[in-house]
Amino acid sequence: MRGVEDNYRHILDRIAEACARTGRSPEEVNVIAITKYVSLETTRAALDAGIMHIGESKAQNAVPKWEQLGNRGNWHFIGHLQTNKVGAILGKFTYLHSLDRLSLAKELEKKGKQAGVVTRCMVQVNISGEETKQGLSPEEVLPFLKDIESYQHLEVIGLMTMAPYVEDPEETRWVFRNLREMRNQLQKEQLANAPLQHLSMGMSNDYEVAVEEGATFIRIGTALVGNEID
Ligand SMILES: *Cc1c(COP(=O)(O)O)cnc(C)c1O
Repeated sequence: MRGVEDNYRHILDRIAEACARTGRSPEEVNVIAITKYVSLETTRAALDAGIMHIGESKAQNAVPKWEQLGNRGNWHFIGHLQTNKVGAILGKFTYLHSLDRLSLAKELEKKGKQAGVVTRCMVQVNISGEETKQGLSPEEVLPFLKDIESYQHLEVIGLMTMAPYVEDPEETRWVFRNLREMRNQLQKEQLANAPLQHLSMGMSNDYEVAVEEGATFIRIGTALVGNEID
């Protein structure tokens, strides 16, 4: 396998090409290195390669890494977050991509208020309707946003989705397009704490299509830092 730096350069080239095809500026696209399958050393190598964003999905692995490296980069929590783990990540992982229920929002608001911390959240939406995927169904999102509109210790900066894994990512372009169209509709509501400027979508196998459809955060694990577990 190539090193993280080579992988990163390759990915940035492909992002630039996807942006050129669709008239976007590459500066709008932020690469998050998903380090859930790699060691502390490889996570450090990602930061050394100039990657500004690190993403983790399990609190028990994420927090020890943050304790070593949290003074570098921006830390994103991307996995299912148990309500009783909010305290463990609050103020450390300043971005949460998996806001998917009211009980979690309530806890972020309560603990955030106590600590004086605002968490930048993305609402996870299950666009594809796959039963194995987490997230609100599309019709649940607006009522949810209205329920939490008065919360001042979370800011809903965007929407997040995961597309089904397919060989040819063109087949799931509609998932990314739907998320963007949904975001555009929701922005018209002008909710107090939901500017919704971000779209978190695209992984190792489908990030180019996601960028063409407007992704501002792409979450890349295997193609960037590899997978040291299997
Ligand atoms: C693991 C994971 C990724 C990265 O997956 P790769 O296919 O390795 O790039 C992205 N998003 C979420 C939510 C993940 O859990």
